[in-house]
Amino acid sequence: MEKVEIVIIGAGIIGLSIAKELSGLYEDILVLEKNPSFGQETSSRNSEVIHAGIYYPKNSLKAEACLEGKELLYQYCEKNNIAHKKIGKLIVAETKNEIKGLEELFKNALANGVKDLKIISKDEIRKIEPHIKAELAIYSGSTGILDSHSLMKSLAAKAKSCRAEIAYDTEMVGVDKCKEGFKIFVKDKKAEGFTFLSRVVINCAGLDSETVAKMVGLEKADYRLKYCKGDYFRVHNNKAKFIRRLIYPLVSKNSAGLGIHATLDLSGGLRLGPDDEYIENINYDIDESKRNAFYESVRQFLPFINLEDLGPDTSGIRPKLQGPGESFRDFLIKDESDSGLKGFVNLAGIESPGLTACLSIAKKVRAMVKSLT
Ligand SMILES: Cc1cc2nc3c(=O)[nH]c(=O)nc-3n(C[C@H](O)[C@H](O)[C@H](O)COP(=O)(O)OP(=O)(O)OC[C@H]3O[C@@H](n4cnc5c(N)ncnc54)[C@H](O)[C@@H]3O)c2cc1C
Repeated sequence: MEKVEIVIIGAGIIGLSIAKELSGLYEDILVLEKNPSFGQETSSRNSEVIHAGIYYPKNSLKAEACLEGKELLYQYCEKNNIAHKKIGKLIVAETKNEIKGLEELFKNALANGVKDLKIISKDEIRKIEPHIKAELAIYSGSTGILDSHSLMKSLAAKAKSCRAEIAYDTEMVGVDKCKEGFKIFVKDKKAEGFTFLSRVVINCAGLDSETVAKMVGLEKADYRLKYCKGDYFRVHNNKAKFIRRLIYPLVSKNSAGLGIHATLDLSGGLRLGPDDEYIENINYDIDESKRNAFYESVRQFLPFINLEDLGPDTSGIRPKLQGPGESFRDFLIKDESDSGLKGFVNLAGIESPGLTACLSIAKKVRAMVKSLT
């Protein structure tokens, strides 16, 4: 039976980052991807924001990986000509009642070690963003946007140039622990099956990471994924010219998202979203009846937007470990040796800031794999 050293399940931004990080260090690395190309799920259905690390609890993996990942990502983008822009962001207190909450968020960000951050007054806001309305704001200078497709393309090319292989249209459908490591069962596009052995399995299957974990017998209540969908509406009628930075409202601590906000993209477009709605089954349809709710949630701080400017755009689904109203859950990145599965590295709940954190997560997985081999 054929044998590889490491198999990576999923060619999203996380699988590709890990493949790039490990290629060159290990001989046989195979990435399995069920879709015909890389990044066709959550990694291409997000805001493409390089987050600063403002929101996450101090010492959480999300905070640490976001801060380290942000620096690594800016360096990588510079070095490899990936389009990106450190455009900055404002989080606004729309009313005086929100000022206390904004100040608490600011303290949290400072405690996380976020730099290039300040509180700015109504007058200062007016000077830099004359078209928005806010009482006070946090200004974050290290927040940016990037071209995530080019990033993934670059990571895939680097991994392949160091002899890692990516098998598209190839789905892992089963995995058994065995003496040599793991026996992997896959099906290709023609539904033809084949089997091979791998010493290490890295599960970064995004929305399917719970399914993949179950294949190896990992059925833990706290690994259960909840799908939280985020719709986007595009802002038409040339309204992007009214802001120069990303503009976010203030949200409550246990909110499932960051609140419907205004995101600029590298082509000069403006989108609102994502909202947050827990769903049972994966579907990417945009609920157009939400148009009014989107408009209502931004009209106070983005008064230049009218209802008729909004048209449905895309959506994405967050693979969350916490359900509605539940408190913070961190990224799960774990070597499952203590469940009798030495060599199985399990990643779950890689929601935002997963894109920002991808290179840091890959470093963490490299250290884990090193300790296993
Ligand atoms: C609405 C939204 C907005 C976001 N905005 C941001 C943002 O602005 N900034 C930020 O930092 N993060 C953001 N994120 C988070 C970020 O997009 C994710 O953390 C990141 O894309 C996760 O990447 P991934 O590789 O884990 O998952 P995915 O991209 O979903 O990749 C998993 C891959 O595994 C494959 N797969 C699954 N099962 C199998 C199998 N059995 N065999 C073979 N292949 C399999 C899938 O086909 C898929 O390609 C956002 C997320 C959402 C939903």
